Amino acid sequence: MSSRIELKPSPTPLNPTERALRTKNLRFGAVFTDHMVSMTYRDSGWGDAVLEAYRSITLDPAASVLHYGQAIFEGFKAYRQRDGGVATFRPEANARRFANSARRLAMPELPEDVFVEAADALIQQDRDWVPPALGESLYVRPLMVATEAALGVRPAREYLFLVIASPSGAYFPKGVKPVSVWISDDFVRAAPGGTGDTKCAGNYAASLVAQRQALEQGCDQVVWLDAVERRFVEEMGGMNLFFVYTSGGRTKLVTPKLTGSLLPGVTRDSILKLAPELGYDTEESLISVDQWQADLASGSMTEVFACGTAAVITPVGVVKSRLGEWTVHQGETGPVAARLRETLLAIQHGEAEDTHGWMHRVL
Ligand SMILES: *Cc1c(COP(=O)(O)O)cnc(C)c1O
Repeated sequence: MSSRIELKPSPTPLNPTERALRTKNLRFGAVFTDHMVSMTYRDSGWGDAVLEAYRSITLDPAASVLHYGQAIFEGFKAYRQRDGGVATFRPEANARRFANSARRLAMPELPEDVFVEAADALIQQDRDWVPPALGESLYVRPLMVATEAALGVRPAREYLFLVIASPSGAYFPKGVKPVSVWISDDFVRAAPGGTGDTKCAGNYAASLVAQRQALEQGCDQVVWLDAVERRFVEEMGGMNLFFVYTSGGRTKLVTPKLTGSLLPGVTRDSILKLAPELGYDTEESLISVDQWQADLASGSMTEVFACGTAAVITPVGVVKSRLGEWTVHQGETGPVAARLRETLLAIQHGEAEDTHGWMHRVL
């Protein structure tokens, strides 16, 4: 256990019976563990981290996060391993991205090792909250907000870093089910030079009305296009997209390239690195809506799926836009998406060899 984190565990954690009740029929992000880690930044430096009972926080009404939105977050998971231990998936990649998000929002960077140690301490303390089954996990949510009471528009001088955790059930308890997507042409998520490549709260605030529109169109998720031409596909909701091409016995995974307005997903990066081992070619390029439609019609594009930490891999079954509606792989999960999903889950739960050194052992 790290010496840099002061341990003040809760005197009244839930007992196993209460915990079992609380974690029945889990929805995503609705139940939290007994503890959290907190750390404050002031006078140009970080204070000591404290592991303490999960609690509400108090903020001054003038705290600048409430007015100007300096707020960033991360998300990764701790998985139960075959031997009963616990490991997280590529947490240092999330630490790096958190530091990058902080820089873009003029917030102080947190050293990457402190980020990983804070999460480790919380997972170790709340180890009994890590669910046992394949596909289940403990979702870890680090965040940082500006707490200084000051209405002047400038970077705040005081911040709060927190790590909380939420047990999460299998994303698809009844088996993987493809989603339908609405291609939004009147709202954009991120523009060149903006904050699209960071995990800041404001990106999500800006996305909610489009997500609501997708639901009104009878779709599960929104697909974002580039802000300038409204032509090139960027992401699906809070997930990255892959297009699968099959011809002459070869399979190629094509994903929109990181132009600066896309969020560089850890899952996206992991799929690009795993693909060659599974015999798939990869390509990062620009994919237009027209090309999406044409390649589905010609049959060269055989599958489409989205990827991210929360759901790992989600197939896309139906695509809807103002121009019409198309079906992908008869609306069913395709073999490439299914194989990638199984491969990733097996690595994450320690059931397949971790050839890339992605797993970080916590217990
Ligand atoms: C977090 C996020 C993703 C997925 O990133 P992972 O690291 O794979 O979880 C994709 N798009 C957006 C907009 C996101 O916020």
